[in-house]
Amino acid sequence: MFDTLSDRLEGVFAGLRSKGRLTDADIDATAREIRIALLEADVALPVVKAFISGMKERSKGAAVSQALNPAQQVIKIVNDELVDILGGETRRLRFAKTAPTVIMLAGLQGAGKTTLAGKLSKWLKGQGHSPMLVASDLQRPNAVTQLQVVGQQAGVEVYAPEPGNGVGDPVAVARESIDVARRKMHDVVIVDTAGRLGVDADMMQQAIDIREAVQPDEVLFVIDAMIGQDAITTAEAFRDGVGFTGVVLSKLDGDARGGAALSVRHVTGQPIMFASTGEKLDDFDVFHPERMASRILGMGDMLTLIEQAQQTFDEEEAERMAEKVASGNKFTLDDFLEQMMAVRRMGPLTNLLGMLPGAGQIKDQIAGIDEKDLDRTQAIIRGMTPAERQDPKMINGSRRSRIARGSGVTVTEVNNLVTRFFEARKMMAQMTGNMGFGKPGRGAS
Ligand code: GDP
Repeated sequence: MFDTLSDRLEGVFAGLRSKGRLTDADIDATAREIRIALLEADVALPVVKAFISGMKERSKGAAVSQALNPAQQVIKIVNDELVDILGGETRRLRFAKTAPTVIMLAGLQGAGKTTLAGKLSKWLKGQGHSPMLVASDLQRPNAVTQLQVVGQQAGVEVYAPEPGNGVGDPVAVARESIDVARRKMHDVVIVDTAGRLGVDADMMQQAIDIREAVQPDEVLFVIDAMIGQDAITTAEAFRDGVGFTGVVLSKLDGDARGGAALSVRHVTGQPIMFASTGEKLDDFDVFHPERMASRILGMGDMLTLIEQAQQTFDEEEAERMAEKVASGNKFTLDDFLEQMMAVRRMGPLTNLLGMLPGAGQIKDQIAGIDEKDLDRTQAIIRGMTPAERQDPKMINGSRRSRIARGSGVTVTEVNNLVTRFFEARKMMAQMTGNMGFGKPGRGAS
């Protein structure tokens, strides 16, 4: 799910990586590309419009943060907008004050209601509840048996009409089930209802009658995420017909483009509460808008990284550092150490690099990074006197031997570090273009 959309968005962000600053024209161009990407993913037009205008609003309001480069800024904006479109906060199940809590499932035939009944009951059981399943789908042949099978797999009681006894009145079954649950001390009742292949007046009326009979605390509308644009008309029909309090996305493991999943919350105004991702009872979880957004962005944990950078990054400190870098030889080994520690505070370097998009392609190099090398570099710098760190040029042969002995490394390692430091300082000064104190090459000798 969402692969095409993820790929398209990744392309949009890649185009921004080379930019130094984000202009209004960049934002407009990016918005256009994202609009196309969403439409191609089958996202409903009103949702696309809301998304783009939300995105533009955010880019206007966004304080220009020096902690983030343009690509990161756009990723953050798109992410925040995605989270919003998907519902913002995670919406948890609401339990009734007096047991049993009644959860009614509604949706088309094949949407995944019966499977969901099993998944939800297993999940609830795992949370210490004692759910009971109710077979009010008397429409589809085998629906009752199917519910009994999932109930057995989940280790949960199933209330169903005796074969040949009262068969045919799903409303009565649902009504009776509440008393049965109360008597048997079940604290949650999950009522599986009948769907049809398409929206149909009889089906909707039956769902309404069941709802009236059991007065559910939650009506969950189950929707197959694979069905594309049709999903929206179906969702609207259920919203206007039986009404619902939450959405369950099923078959998110499929390879459809995911437009329905992205549209349903905005179109119906009801939160997505759970996601089903396979045929097994455990392929199920609470729906978290944030996690889904970062999955769609294919950013691995890029967003975590961006947030960590924002937290670790002190803008004033960065400016002070930039000035030092620009001035050539004002950048000392103390600064170098400080910078290195700031980066390492964000976590192990391998994790940090692993969070970057495209990290998969350089995983061998990442695996080759040895934190111990960084520890040694830090140890060497700590083995220097404050005067040496401030003015590394004074580190002559005998000082190098002393530093090596003190920090438990070889003289070659100290030499390498000092050489690398001078090279880096020279390069940084040249890159900033503003030489300030130092003339090219001066700080490096
Ligand atoms: P109902 O008619 O709404 O009760 O739908 P079912 O629960 O019978 O599901 C219809 C079909 O979809 C069954 O073959 C299920 O195994 C399958 N199914 C349900 N949920 C999922 C899911 O999340 N992923 C996949 N791959 N299949 C699912």
